[in-house]
Amino acid sequence: MPNCRPRRGPGARGERFAVVDPATGEAFDDAPDQQPDELDAVVGRAQEAWRGWRADDGARVTALLAAADAVEAAGPGLAPLLTREQGKPLTESYAEVARTAARLRHFARSAPGPLPITDGRPVRSELRWRPLGPVAAIVPWNFPLQLASAKFAPALAAGNTVVLKPSPFTPLATRLMVSVISAALPEDVLTVVTGREPLGARLACHPGIRHVTFTGSVATGRAVAEGAAASLARVTLELGGNDAAILLDDVDVDRIAERLFWAAFRNCGQVCMAVKRVYVPARLHSGVVEALAHYAQSAVVGAGLDRGTQLGPVNNAPQLARVEDRTAQTLSDGARAVTGGHRLDRPGYFFAPTILADVPPDSAVVTEEQFGPVLPVLPYGSLDEAVEAANDTRFGLGGSVWGTDLDRAEAVAGRLECGTAWINHHAELSLAQPFAGIKESGVGVAGGPWGLYGNLRPFVVHRPQEGRG
Ligand code: NAD
Repeated sequence: MPNCRPRRGPGARGERFAVVDPATGEAFDDAPDQQPDELDAVVGRAQEAWRGWRADDGARVTALLAAADAVEAAGPGLAPLLTREQGKPLTESYAEVARTAARLRHFARSAPGPLPITDGRPVRSELRWRPLGPVAAIVPWNFPLQLASAKFAPALAAGNTVVLKPSPFTPLATRLMVSVISAALPEDVLTVVTGREPLGARLACHPGIRHVTFTGSVATGRAVAEGAAASLARVTLELGGNDAAILLDDVDVDRIAERLFWAAFRNCGQVCMAVKRVYVPARLHSGVVEALAHYAQSAVVGAGLDRGTQLGPVNNAPQLARVEDRTAQTLSDGARAVTGGHRLDRPGYFFAPTILADVPPDSAVVTEEQFGPVLPVLPYGSLDEAVEAANDTRFGLGGSVWGTDLDRAEAVAGRLECGTAWINHHAELSLAQPFAGIKESGVGVAGGPWGLYGNLRPFVVHRPQEGRG
């Protein structure tokens, strides 16, 4: 049931909660533990700010472009803080900052003008896209800035105001980013709230919110949708994934192995559309396993702030426990860890990059998303068998096909049941393309004009033509 009523969270007004550095496992800072009952004032101010923000398209463009410049300039402060609380290598944190600025620029000028509608009758209809009102953006801990900007950039460009709630595991860089962006925008157009549950639950069902855009797990997505049903707010959900990569029998293993490895292990595997299962023709299986194990063994694992680190820690203790449990369960089902398979014996939330072979198809790391540095490699007999296995999941975010004959690879990609299918790479997205999962991977569309229209409603003025009224 949605948690719409509680007005108090686990703390008291004015309390703060600790933020942990996953590279050490130690708290290094804290953030305000805002209470659900504080949301009424925050959402009220977002409603007030909406009146001015929606009214002036030109001023919005100028402000959003200035916000993009401000974020970019703040990179040297933002990126290390993001790495400290999230764990990812510093270069990847800089990439998140750059992506945030790029999104603000991409969407700044994208608000659509009026559109005449004709159907041959003597009426003159005009479609004018209108913003929805305050938008709640609720995001997880794997890409705190990038996923937040994927929500607030189109929502703001469309003329809405935004209340953003980051994960309690990664509130700090988001707070800093919002303070930097807010300085370029009118007051209360973009606000951040931080706190432990039930803050997110309460935000999702707040009657002043007109669109809840959420990225996170399937279970929480369901709760958010139930909560938003209370006010009939629009809901966009970007949820989990269990993406398969199918290697074809003409694949050049030496050529693709490194790219395939990083498509699974970037950000320590904590990517909704990472490669999470690999299907390989039986005769190539041992060669692919060996090649992937080579990259797993040579990847530099360490604190994200250390120069040269390629793989950081898992972000938080509960996630590390999930990765450990799923891997241990799969090993006890008969799988073999070609490399890794265990936590690293050092402080922090480090798990050894793991390649699994002899994996039973119904084991935990195949049927559920591992969301960590663990990759099962499964052999297949016929291509039909591989496609069937790839599609045999409750998720439908992405998938990929790897081979030398691109036409054949594209034909196989067309058989995947998911939102995006890549050939010879995985998880590369352009700001201009739609991003939408099917099945339990999501509801609604992000990215490109489709992401913008997700934050607008059609308003039609219908009048007779001159002289006919
Ligand atoms: P999560 O669902 O636990 O939390 C996501 C956000 O929701 C956090 O801000 C959290 O504080 C908040 N939240 C928790 N309970 C809530 C409730 N009852 N109501 C409203 N908000 C609530 O997810 P996570 O563990 O932070 O992130 C990992 C998951 O996110 C993985 O399943 C991953 O696949 C998914 N993910 C999906 C995408 C995508 O675009 N599809 C991108 C990144 C991550």
